[in-house]
Amino acid sequence: MSFLRSLKVYTWYYPIIITTLVVMGILSTFFVYSKITANTKESFLKNTRTVTAAVGTEKLLKLTGTSADLTNPDYLSLKEQLEKIRDANKDIRFVYFIGYRDDNPFFFVDSEPSTSSDYSPPGQIFDEASQLLRDVVLGKAPASTELNTDRWGTWISALVPIANPTTNKPWALLGMDIQASSYSRNIFLYTAMPAVAVSLVLVLVVIGSIIRKREQQYAKLKSDLVSMASHEIRTPLTGVFWSAESLLKDVSNLSEDQTNSLEMIKNHTKNLLTTINEFLDSAAVEKVGKEDIIKKKITLRPFLDEIIEDSILVVQEKSLKIVFDDSIKSDTSIFGDKNRLRKMFNNLITNAIKYSKNGTSVTMGSIIHMSSSVFWIKDHGIGIPEKDQTQIFKGFYRASNAKELTDNGTGLGLRYAVQIAELHGGRIWCESKENIGSTFFVELPNA
Ligand code: ADP
Repeated sequence: MSFLRSLKVYTWYYPIIITTLVVMGILSTFFVYSKITANTKESFLKNTRTVTAAVGTEKLLKLTGTSADLTNPDYLSLKEQLEKIRDANKDIRFVYFIGYRDDNPFFFVDSEPSTSSDYSPPGQIFDEASQLLRDVVLGKAPASTELNTDRWGTWISALVPIANPTTNKPWALLGMDIQASSYSRNIFLYTAMPAVAVSLVLVLVVIGSIIRKREQQYAKLKSDLVSMASHEIRTPLTGVFWSAESLLKDVSNLSEDQTNSLEMIKNHTKNLLTTINEFLDSAAVEKVGKEDIIKKKITLRPFLDEIIEDSILVVQEKSLKIVFDDSIKSDTSIFGDKNRLRKMFNNLITNAIKYSKNGTSVTMGSIIHMSSSVFWIKDHGIGIPEKDQTQIFKGFYRASNAKELTDNGTGLGLRYAVQIAELHGGRIWCESKENIGSTFFVELPNA
């Protein structure tokens, strides 16, 4: 079962796939986290700059930064604007103008109603102000803070400096605060996406690996059972076969009926033994790896002659002509494991003979390429219906016309041949037309 061998390879790769996915997950999460954090701060800062430009900051000039502002219409108008800005975006919690006096930042106006416990009256010193806020109010470039905590809570703040329109000197700032919880929620939502996607793929890969492992265990169990059962059956069956054979050596004391029955026992046990041997070959090849294949040079012509010799009785019975195409010269050779290739070629040749129409020819030839050699065998037999042409290589499959022709077959020979060709790094395919005939090709790498 070549597909099982490939499963083993995949299984071997699972730790690498899983590690790669985990690393990808961690890296992409970090990447998305840093990108989203930077983008969120950037767009928050941009919004704050837009708000700063839109709010009439010249009104600030008319404020004193003391409780006297409370009745100042400019203070009231600015406060109303800040309240509207805060209410327009549910993520924004505070909007405020800060001034700077006697080495201390203080509130000009904030977005809180005077009834709120978070309200900061004009002139109130902002003594927990971060160094960044102090720097910005003194003219540093607009900036967003990291998460910072003060008496009102934990925030991300965007701070935009405002120059005094008359002196053009740094003089105040506009600040906007986003609550840590809504900031973190947005970041978390985006950051979790790649982590969730990679985790899903990871779960699928792990489930896949468990299923494949189960399949392998099941296939191994099946093949062990088949081998065990076949071994157990083969020994007594071989005994029956040899007993029938030896009894048939001297039939002088047997009636014709008895002789016929013995002949039948011998033929049936022979067929059963062939089937069992195919099962065992197929199970055994499962355990073979490419490294177990020892390649040697094989001269094709005598090698094929030997194989055909084993089928000579059927060839004669069906009046077949075995022809070697001129492409097989006396020194044409292939490379491979002689014993295993013998079985492989034997399966292809016996099929060509078995499925040929009486009195036709079976021709063999070769095509030598730079890096590979192709062997072909062409018959004029029953052919293979188009729909069956891929199935026949999968094992335990016989085309309907083959089943009609003979019961003698397991559907395992071609699969074995494919397994052996693949172990050599080669392949097998066929071209066939029902009722006209088939050509099977085997490509094997040179050396
Ligand atoms: P089987 O024991 O049935 O011959 P194989 O695995 O050798 O099993 O072949 C599988 C099936 O492929 C056959 O049952 C038959 O349907 C088809 N097949 C193989 N070789 C030939 C051929 N030369 N001509 C026609 N059909 C073929």
